[in-house]
Formats: sequence, C-alpha cells, structure tokens
Amino acid sequence: MKKTTGTDRSITRNWRPATRAVRGGTWRSEHGETSEALFLTSGYTYDDAATVAARFAGEDSGMTYSRLQNPTVAMLEERICLMEGAEACRAQASGMAAMTAALLCQLSAGDHCVAARAAFGSCRWLVDHLLPRFGIETTVIDSADNDAWERAIRPNTKVFFFETPANPTLDIVDLAHVCAVAKAHGITSVVDNAFCSPALQRPMEFGADVVAYSATKLMDGQGRVLAGAVCGSEAFINDVLLPFQRNTGPNIAPFNAWVVLKGLETLSLRAHKQSENALKLGQFMEGRVPTMLHPGLASHPRHELAMRQMDACGPIFSFIVDDRAQAHTILDALELVDISNNIGDARSLMCHPASTTHAGMTAEDRDAMGVAEGMLRINVGLEDVDDIIEDMDRALQAAGL
Ligand SMILES: *Cc1c(COP(=O)(O)O)cnc(C)c1O
Repeated sequence: MKKTTGTDRSITRNWRPATRAVRGGTWRSEHGETSEALFLTSGYTYDDAATVAARFAGEDSGMTYSRLQNPTVAMLEERICLMEGAEACRAQASGMAAMTAALLCQLSAGDHCVAARAAFGSCRWLVDHLLPRFGIETTVIDSADNDAWERAIRPNTKVFFFETPANPTLDIVDLAHVCAVAKAHGITSVVDNAFCSPALQRPMEFGADVVAYSATKLMDGQGRVLAGAVCGSEAFINDVLLPFQRNTGPNIAPFNAWVVLKGLETLSLRAHKQSENALKLGQFMEGRVPTMLHPGLASHPRHELAMRQMDACGPIFSFIVDDRAQAHTILDALELVDISNNIGDARSLMCHPASTTHAGMTAEDRDAMGVAEGMLRINVGLEDVDDIIEDMDRALQAAGL
C-alpha cells in the first residue's frame, strides 16, 4: 500500500473542502488504481514473526486484524476526519453503534448525562433505558432553552448529548452556547450531526468535543448501507473510544465503508442541492399546512441561529396537520414521494414519525418532545423540485388542505 498525498496532513490541511472530499485519505496498492480499493479481508499475513510482534506491541503501524484496522475503513476514517476538521475519527457499523460507543466508552456507573428531549427514537432509548441500566443517571431537557443546560448540571455530570437539527422536530440547539457551558464545567459535548453532515454543519467549529454520525444518511446519500462514525480529539479517540471499540467490535464492514467513501465525493453537491429543493418545497407549503417545522423558513423559532450554524437548511423538515388520519391520507395520496422512514437519500421520502420512528415511545413522551400525532417528516431528494411540489400539492389536496 502506498499512502498518497491524501494521507499527508501537512498537505491535506491546505486543501479546500471539495478537494478533501474527493482525495482525502486515499491509499493506493501497487496497481495504482484510481478508485479506492475494497479490502474484503478479516486478517493479514506477515513476512516474519518479528514484524507481527512489533505490530502487536504498537511499534509498527501495519494492519493486524480487521476489528482493529482495515485499509478501506482507514481511508473512510481519514476522509471524514478531514471533512469534519477533527483530529481523529473511527467508523462504526451504524449510526446507533456510533452513538452507543460514543456514550458508553466514556460513561461509568455513578456518572450523569444531560440529553436533549427532542431526539431520534433510538437515541432517546439509549438515554431513557440503556444508560440507567448501568447506573448512569440521565436528565432530558428542552434543548432550545439555553439556560436549561446549565440548570441540569450536577457534580457528576460527564456528558451533554444532543442532535441539531433534531429528528424529527427540527429543534435547533445553540451549539456555541451549549458547547461553551460544557467546556466551562469539564463536560464532554457529544453532537449527533446526522441531519447535516460536515457538508452543512461542522459542530467542532462551535466548540463541540465529539461529533457522532449516522453515515447511513447524507454521507452514503443513496440509501444503500448502514454506517456510522465518531470524530474527536486524538486523545479522546485513541485513549477513550478505541479501547472500547476494539474490544466490543461495533466495526463497519469494509464494503459498507467503501460505499460511504464514494458517497463522500458528491456529499457537498447533494447536500446543497437537496437543501435548495427543501427550501423551495417549504416555501410552497408555508401557509397551506397548519404548522411548518423548517429551519430554512423565517417562521422557525430559531431560524436565524440555524442559518448561523448551518451552511444551508438541509434536506429534511417536518410539518404538522390535524391528526394521524389526515397525515396518513397525505402519505397514501403521494405518487412520486415514497413512504419511507429513511433520510438523507437522493430520493424524496416521507414518513409519519408517531407510527414509525417514534412508535416505541409512550404517547406522553412523544407529546413532551413535540412529536404530534399529525406530524409528517420529509427528506427532499434530487428529483426535479417541480415534480416534488406537484406531488405534495396533490397529496395536500387529497387531505382537504
Ligand atoms: C438515523 C439516525 C440515527 C441512527 O443511525 P443508523 O445508521 O440508522 O443506526 C441516529 N441519529 C439520528 C439523528 C438519525 O437520524
């Protein structure tokens, strides 16, 4: 394997974002392939016993076993790292593997975690059910209330955990404020950046310590594989995350890593075009449905903050109609947009969170976090936006809107 200039940080640090997305992290085999090679191997062989001993002793940087290192996965990790502006990154099997690892690697019995109330269903399950089982205390707060973060701090608070924008309520967290409060109290901020990807928002620029991803979403961007990643400082990734990850094994398959690696090359183009389409669709719908939850529209309570933190509004927004029956009528009337709970895809997809992604919560918990019975969430894709608008128009009409 020949490391190219894409692995030399003294060179890649000077590259602009588009160059990092296409060339960051690339290694080449002796064949000089242009596209990154896919290493479907679980193990490695060695020329002699001294070499393998040196590798296991950490004195030689070569590969030893794919739960610990794999060249295709390493290319993905370096590329995400460069795009995020992080010191280090480790890829994971899925977004939830990333969230679980990012929390469990640093929390112990007796610690306390403060988390945003509005969150992806499985993220809330970690906070509400998994962490407490291991003696880790948790508090959920209204993440849009800046003072609530400081009020929730206890002497044993170790982690702040939140999404911005949140899935599916589109709550926006004030990154600079919340990360500064965390820093002032020696708390690690863990930001789930799935709705944006580094193409639209880089939380570390606002002081975040750890950024965790579902790479299944915008990074793959074509609805093919599950993938995740955790980014942080060298110290956090190498000393805190890696011992946990290497011994528990939430590894990404090399094939999935390769798919995401190729997805990153077009991430910025897709994220910006899908944001543009989402803004046009949102503008069309404003006034037509009772409530819009769209960070790109001035009607969003934190529109200005969102636009300060994000380069564009992102492809995903939600809206609320009268009730579940009306929401289901809209879904059933769609001809182009698919009924699907995935997001970040190049296809437009729409779902009813209360009966899908958040069906595992009690009605009271859904209510408290703002997941109304009449809420619909849409991922706006790369189709011609006029076709998407016509489909939405037809579906709203079918529901009497
Ligand atoms: C999808 C999603 C996840 C989980 O990611 P998977 O890749 O499906 O495991 C976590 N957080 C948010 C905000 C998500 O949208």
